[in-house]
Amino acid sequence: MRIVKSPKKMQEICINLKNQGKVISFVPTMGYLHEGHLSLMRIAKKKSDILVVSIFVNPTQFGPKEDFKRYPRDLKRDKRLLKEIGCDFIFMPDIKDMYPKMYDTYVEVEDLTKILEGKSRPEHFKGVTTVVAKLFNIIQPDIAVFGQKDFQQAVVVKKMVKDLNLPVKIIIAPTVREKSGLALSSRNEYLSSEEKKQVTALYRSLKLSEKMIASGERDSRKIISEMRKLIQKKPKAKIDYISINDSESLKPLNKLKGNVVISLAVLIGKTRLIDNIKIRV
Ligand code: AMP
Repeated sequence: MRIVKSPKKMQEICINLKNQGKVISFVPTMGYLHEGHLSLMRIAKKKSDILVVSIFVNPTQFGPKEDFKRYPRDLKRDKRLLKEIGCDFIFMPDIKDMYPKMYDTYVEVEDLTKILEGKSRPEHFKGVTTVVAKLFNIIQPDIAVFGQKDFQQAVVVKKMVKDLNLPVKIIIAPTVREKSGLALSSRNEYLSSEEKKQVTALYRSLKLSEKMIASGERDSRKIISEMRKLIQKKPKAKIDYISINDSESLKPLNKLKGNVVISLAVLIGKTRLIDNIKIRV
């Protein structure tokens, strides 16, 4: 396993590998790796000759009041886990090399980023698509794997790839959860033990929606209202949004039909967590 910091060097290596006919897969991360990240890497490895993983806490996707500075980091542990999984290259650029002075170019997917996470975090997706486009240009992967956990991010990245004719196949991998149902996230680190107990209401509310749909409920408002009631029982929980949307167009649905995604963003104390499930109605 090699660690590369320079974008130029990483690009040279990848171009060389491609010229040798190697299939490159890529998993972008912000580090502080957990089983969710590793599951993406296992999928990527199976489909390629070379696995590249990036670790880069990307400042442009954090809002001014968000947790960029305190985002958890543990490079030593990350390196050990990546070695164990059989990662070939870790790309770990410095901020100054990704965004040098006078940096001035951004990639933006417009409509899909105006709702849900985009509404609550206005600059977030612009930062995500910009850094992912840069990483794709540096690494030039044949395959890139993203998690369903951040489903809007996956939809937005897929749209960018389609609209910009980027030659990369995007694979979306299922969400990995704790036994309690809590979706693994680097940000779970912020939760106190009391908050960890209360946070299980998020997944239970998603399971409740699944149950209501299975017993024939098709009215979004009724489903969302029951989910709200369940979450609001937890004193530390403050709901940002609960929404039911078409899983591709992301259009909000009043009546459930087709492939739907039920998603939520909830503050538990100071920690903002997101989760979702996809259901075929
Ligand atoms: P992050 O380090 O949070 O930027 O996440 C890097 C990638 O891991 C993204 O594609 C996420 O969607 C994915 N990911 C994060 N948490 C999980 C999880 N619990 N299960 C599966 N994928 C995940």
